[in-house]
Amino acid sequence: MFGLTTSSTEGSSTVRRLLVAVTATVLALAGTAAPAAAAPAPGGAGLGDEYFPDYGNSGYDVSHYDIRLRYYPDQDRLTGTTTILASAEQDLSSFNLDFILDVSSIQVNNRAAAFKRQGDHELVVTPARSVAKGQALTVVVTYSGVPSNKVAAGYTAWIRTPDGALAVGEPEEAWWWFPSNDHPSDKATFDVSVAVPDGVEVISNGVQPRNPTPELLGWSRWYWRSAKPQATYLAFITIGQYDITRDVTADGTPVINAYSQLLPEDYAAAARASVERTAEITDWESTIFGPWPFTARGGVVAPPGTLGFALENQSRPNYSAAFFRAGANPYVVVHENGHQWFGDAVSVAQWKEIWLNEGFASYAEWLWSEKEGEGTTDELFDYLYATESDDFWTVEPGDPGPANVFDGAVYDRGAMTLHQLRKAVGDDDFFAILRTWVAQHRYDHATTAQFIALSEQISGLQLDDLFQTWLYTPAKPVLDSVAGAKAAKAAVKAPASLAKIRAAHEHR
Ligand SMILES: [Zn+2]
Repeated sequence: MFGLTTSSTEGSSTVRRLLVAVTATVLALAGTAAPAAAAPAPGGAGLGDEYFPDYGNSGYDVSHYDIRLRYYPDQDRLTGTTTILASAEQDLSSFNLDFILDVSSIQVNNRAAAFKRQGDHELVVTPARSVAKGQALTVVVTYSGVPSNKVAAGYTAWIRTPDGALAVGEPEEAWWWFPSNDHPSDKATFDVSVAVPDGVEVISNGVQPRNPTPELLGWSRWYWRSAKPQATYLAFITIGQYDITRDVTADGTPVINAYSQLLPEDYAAAARASVERTAEITDWESTIFGPWPFTARGGVVAPPGTLGFALENQSRPNYSAAFFRAGANPYVVVHENGHQWFGDAVSVAQWKEIWLNEGFASYAEWLWSEKEGEGTTDELFDYLYATESDDFWTVEPGDPGPANVFDGAVYDRGAMTLHQLRKAVGDDDFFAILRTWVAQHRYDHATTAQFIALSEQISGLQLDDLFQTWLYTPAKPVLDSVAGAKAAKAAVKAPASLAKIRAAHEHR
């Protein structure tokens, strides 16, 4: 994610209410002396996330979502069915989904299931028959609602636009449009189809497995597919009036970009001059981070005054129009596509380790700056080191706290951490660490401890102190006197790229 100033959408996401997790109650088998297996028990209402304990659910693992919707733009009304393919990880008497629209029926393994709401985003599903550990689960949820009327975690992530809607947000977004196990540690493949009135466009992740098909009188159904595992928050739909451009990269990957028809002409030109460079920029990133991890590329630019940030939706980021108000902005394209390796292909196991996403995507911008001759990575490091405020240094990028997961320190000090790692291990080992990290963990999730272990393994160095100092110390790290003096001297003049990076990345 890449924030603009104070978007109400993003700002309010820091207001969260942590709900009390449901405690699994295991009922002993009454009246029997057999030493037997415990009775099937409820799955948990969380996945053990330290910051957001009731995000995601335990007891099952999802492999695929089939999301089939109909959207009425004039009413902001969504109806449809999501089919979830999962497997039980314990003997289940009931399990939870994260979801807030109005559910009319749920089938589990072809039989009607009971369901009830709990807290502000939990749906407790009780199948007619309990489910054994290892058994396949097919869950069909039929629902409807006006997502822009639904509030959870203190805000509404769904954005209604003048001509449609956007489901684009982090970490909460899925609740407003499909039931899920909403945590990046349970990734799945996706098929998304949405029927809309003729002439309205629907954009989502991945490829279009077929062209839009006519449905009823005056409606068309759009189809999108994410064939590689994807975190729930990275799934998106963008609905409205869009101009769509299509191309194919040199290696045969489809590139599909979409621009709101509500963009003023000057914004539209600057947006195209940035997002149409996606294939070039991602080809360059591939030379550093390894092969492009997905089956499509692209970008979507939202109507002005709607989306307040950019988000690294898998294979196809969404951008606020405001990134392009002052002209072309390749830096935001570099950042969001840097996430395709760091955040999307390799996901966080815990939201507290968000620096693994934001620090790395920010460092991709530093590398772009150096390539473009707009400031070297050394110059960017030195300037930030010399000029950041005392407040900046109080946030630990490796554990910023749930209210600070998108704090500027997670981005900039996260990138500075990587730069210090590079200084310590040298360029060859540093870039080998980045590529190996992706190769080992892509389509899965991973932890900071694993990153540190990999860095030590490849470099042969003991790096605990470096990471402790840069990620987990709420104070400005001390450089040795030579380096510190050099940083202070170099810092007099800001690198040219810094203003461009900050034009789009103002910290809250
Ligand atoms: Zn980001």
